[in-house]
Amino acid sequence: MASVSLKPQREKSLLRKHPWVFSGAIRDVSEAAAPGETVDILSSDGTWLARGAFSPHSQIIVRVWTFDPAETVSPVFFSKRIQTAVSLRHTIPSLSGCDAYRLINAESDGLPGIVVDRYGPVLVCQFLTVGAEFWKEIIIKELARQIPVRGIYERSDVNARLKENLKKRTGLLYGDIPSEPLKIREGSAAFLVDIRQGQKTGFYLDQRENRTALADYTLGKDVLNGFSYTGGFGIWAMVGGASSVLNIDSSESAIDLARRNAELNGFSENQVKNTKADVFSALRQIRESGRRFDVVVLDPPKFADSRAHLDRACRGYKDINRLGLGLLREGGLLMTFSCSAHVLPELFQKVVADAALDAGRPGVILHRFGQSADHPVSLSFPEGTYLKGLLIKV
Ligand code: SAH
Repeated sequence: MASVSLKPQREKSLLRKHPWVFSGAIRDVSEAAAPGETVDILSSDGTWLARGAFSPHSQIIVRVWTFDPAETVSPVFFSKRIQTAVSLRHTIPSLSGCDAYRLINAESDGLPGIVVDRYGPVLVCQFLTVGAEFWKEIIIKELARQIPVRGIYERSDVNARLKENLKKRTGLLYGDIPSEPLKIREGSAAFLVDIRQGQKTGFYLDQRENRTALADYTLGKDVLNGFSYTGGFGIWAMVGGASSVLNIDSSESAIDLARRNAELNGFSENQVKNTKADVFSALRQIRESGRRFDVVVLDPPKFADSRAHLDRACRGYKDINRLGLGLLREGGLLMTFSCSAHVLPELFQKVVADAALDAGRPGVILHRFGQSADHPVSLSFPEGTYLKGLLIKV
């Protein structure tokens, strides 16, 4: 097996079990290793540190599979890791009554580059790195052996693959999948999910616990759901007894499914309105119209892809939150999110505070939100945290 040796003093993060080695930390590579092949990682004095997948084209040149010198990276290794991830999900109380959840959350489940979401009888996978790609067939076989699924579908159509010198790819990997959107259950709500064309792997599973939390606050309320995707927060607002919901999203296909989701849950077009529009301009229009809401939910897409975009992202968050706060009735609630990992919770809170000052709507934080428990974050991998949210009462 080839090995990579680190420069002096570069072993610190590995000793803390952080799973990434950056190319700048490498002194040399012992022999030619193919992309995705397993290599040993040695400190500058030759001490064995870890074993991981070699990715010569990426800035993250090795992603660690194991910190145990006795553990070989083999089909048995993947079998065990998958089993551990599956049993963890069995222990998560908020998943009872849910048949859609994240089964494997990459680094945080000890499987860098591998994401697997379960939608009832179908698994949807993303293979994000050459290491994941290298073991793909083994992983698919093992998933099919351990989980009684009808089909496994690949949604590796993500930019992260390009950094690994991999092309984007989608398609069937195993069995078959229904041609129509799948129906999933999220407690007392049901949703249609388009795993082929939908965003991410089809649904924002990371927001599940936050959607259900919203229901506690919506009895008799008029709710605006900005960046609604297929209407998840809107349905849960209705489950909580909302008088009306207005979903706004710029994606036509998302709004189409939002309509079907309202119908599926027994809500009429009078109760749940769905509008295809840009949220920034829609909120300005609503402001001019004088219409107001009791609850505003804002769950925009990632505004910051990298640290370089941080300023621009913060301006976007401030703008949207100022507009959202301005549409609230006295005593109203803003449930607001950021899924940009680079925007840390303290910064997000500051941006929302600035927005409240500008809007002249002082408020208090009632709750803080994160990603659902099926998106765990390894203590050794804080980068796994990305979603943060606040519930503000003005
Ligand atoms: N809250 C949703 C997920 C929202 S994801 C849920 O729980 O399922 C972010 C959404 O914002 C996407 O559906 C995307 O289509 C939409 N979007 C992105 N930019 C937008 C814009 N400028 N105006 C309206 N919608 C936008």
